[in-house]
Amino acid sequence: TWVHFFVRIMMSRNSRYDILFDPVKIGPVTAPNRFYQTPHAIGTGHQMPHIDAAMREVRAEGGWGVVNTGYCSIHPSSDDSPLLPSRLWDDEDVREHALVVDAIHRHDSLAGIELYHGGSSCANKSTRITPISASGVSINSTYPGWISLTQSRSMDHKDIADMRSWYVDAARRAKSAGFDIVYIYAGMSFGPYQFLLPWLNKRTDEYGGSLKNRVRLMREILEDMKEAIGDSCAVAIRFSSDDLLKVKGEKMESEAHEIVSMLSDLPDLWDIKSSDWTVETASARFVGEGAQESWNSFAKSLTSKPVVGVGRFTSPDEMVRQIRNGILDLIGAARPSIADPFLPKKIDEGREDEIRECIGCNICVSCYHDSVPVRCTQNPTAGEEWRKDWHPERIPLGDSKKKVLVVGSGPAGLECSRVLGQRGFSVTLAEKKKELGGRIIRESGLPGLASWIRVRDYRTSLIKTMPNIDIYLDSPISSEDINHSDYDQVVIATGSRWSTDILSDSGYPIPGFQNNRIFTPDQILEGVTLLEPVVIYDFDHYYMGGCLAELLRERHKEITLVTPANAVSAWTSMNNESWRIRSRMIELEIEILLEHYLIGMDESHLQLTSIYNDSQITTIEAGSLIIVGVRIAEDMLYKELVARSEFSERSGLSNIKSIGDCVAPGTIAHAVYSGHEHGRNIDKEASDICYQVERPSLHI
Ligand code: ADP
Ligand code: SF4
Repeated sequence: TWVHFFVRIMMSRNSRYDILFDPVKIGPVTAPNRFYQTPHAIGTGHQMPHIDAAMREVRAEGGWGVVNTGYCSIHPSSDDSPLLPSRLWDDEDVREHALVVDAIHRHDSLAGIELYHGGSSCANKSTRITPISASGVSINSTYPGWISLTQSRSMDHKDIADMRSWYVDAARRAKSAGFDIVYIYAGMSFGPYQFLLPWLNKRTDEYGGSLKNRVRLMREILEDMKEAIGDSCAVAIRFSSDDLLKVKGEKMESEAHEIVSMLSDLPDLWDIKSSDWTVETASARFVGEGAQESWNSFAKSLTSKPVVGVGRFTSPDEMVRQIRNGILDLIGAARPSIADPFLPKKIDEGREDEIRECIGCNICVSCYHDSVPVRCTQNPTAGEEWRKDWHPERIPLGDSKKKVLVVGSGPAGLECSRVLGQRGFSVTLAEKKKELGGRIIRESGLPGLASWIRVRDYRTSLIKTMPNIDIYLDSPISSEDINHSDYDQVVIATGSRWSTDILSDSGYPIPGFQNNRIFTPDQILEGVTLLEPVVIYDFDHYYMGGCLAELLRERHKEITLVTPANAVSAWTSMNNESWRIRSRMIELEIEILLEHYLIGMDESHLQLTSIYNDSQITTIEAGSLIIVGVRIAEDMLYKELVARSEFSERSGLSNIKSIGDCVAPGTIAHAVYSGHEHGRNIDKEASDICYQVERPSLHI
């Protein structure tokens, strides 16, 4: 019919993006398009193959032409515990990989694996093997958990021969698991990279000194791997260029240029990135889309093999620009593929408006440090594909006759409404403010957090197209309103507010002081006027304290940030933002006072005490004090409803549910997850809710 024809036209790919769907030959294999999920760990390692397989499978289903798994240790001397790489130490390890490869192949994508030896960056805490490296030089880590108390030893010729054979053995195992692309990882301060850097490689034999010598091991491993598996598998290299772009080459402008030109067409693919994990994964607060161009744009002129790079790409126009301008051949992605496993398919089907764009918050990065399966602010199904049987796009239909009221339109209420709407329920979304979005509206106005508005926009753009969702703005809902309604279910998503509680010296919140010069972040975001000097007391430890300091810097000369922690925004060492936040504070001349508790306030001063010695009192001047610590759940409506409302008596307590921050204040990721979970499970009995657990396999 005409309508169908019209819908098809509307839903077909914009020809502007055709180039993204060109097949790309990578050695003996061919990627079906240019969407390339680069290798990245997802906190599953070798211990959670089912979670890994399901998570990679949805990427393949969503159209990523190449799906790589996470970094894979080739030998017990590369033991990154307590972090969780996968591993190919012996033939027994092949099985888990085969499970993942089969899942990727079910959707005709290529499966890739990144073989890695960490050299001295691995402390081998579990295997207790003395770490090995080019010259026994240890690498300093800025992350305390990574500090090794054991130095590495220099590799002798037997170690080098061993390392070559470990790569070959692992490559053969990767091939037998079914992988199409097998990497050597020569970046990120790992083993072969340590040979490349003159300041880590002090050798005087044929593996040290000249660049030709420092490249020798990498060349040998590439040649060995090509000989072993190159007939049917592509052999790729992942190379960090940024350090060596700064080292002048003998004949070319840098040693990075010389390395790519020396090895040029030996690998079947070049994957080029930064050497520093905190730089590579810079959050959107500090770095925009396509920020790695300065490190990878030089490579294409030096090799005829395809080049891939990342850049938190979510805009198809930017992807096209990267290809048309000869920067990349394949659009690499880790975070955008976590946030939206179906990103390529949406572009292919002309649905780019539906892309669930990564907001660059790095909650996913923190999960890797926690050694737990990845969580994502935008995509609550990430990590739950197998455990909970959650698909990122498909959700089983519910009973369209059931009427559900959702109160509150922050991330929890919006996500719950979206899911319920997609499931076909008849949904009413009521919001007391004049705009949808809850905390997202104000928080995305903080310095650097503009992209966080995507959490709202992705959901509102879908909700507004759903005829079964009615939206009421400017509608504060009371328990009385609900009592007289005919809803089958009520979902309370009324959020939270900041409090002025402070932290006791034992580390728990206690009521703060009564003083009209004390403010909460809510009041600051409403634009309250402050007196100088401004002091922020932060024991929330995430972004709010630092962001407020930045925001207020535009209006106030003197700002001091005080915290009991030993770092500014201390939690952010988990999401790789920590050093950038501190540098920003230094740049903005914001005073920092670490390791102090707030114990008192008078007309013009604050009293602080050292966390190590409570008799050591410091007094600082303060015209206004902002306390960034705990939040209080806005759960009054929920409590009224369950206490003894007509609605609860008529419909039963199980038909009233609170979600998100009004249950327990947390990150936006928690709120989205909570809304999603309830949207999925609203019509399920507890016994029907799927939760599978990985079990260790026992040797028989
Ligand atoms: P969450 O992170 O849990 O989604 P937010 O604080 O972002 O929570 O959002 C809560 C939303 O609920 C806010 O937009 C707020 O205006 C709205 N809200 C709070 N109480 C009511 C109420 N009684 N009726 C309608 N909306 C409400
Ligand atoms: Fe992007 Fe944040 Fe999701 Fe990571 S957690 S993929 S940074 S939206």
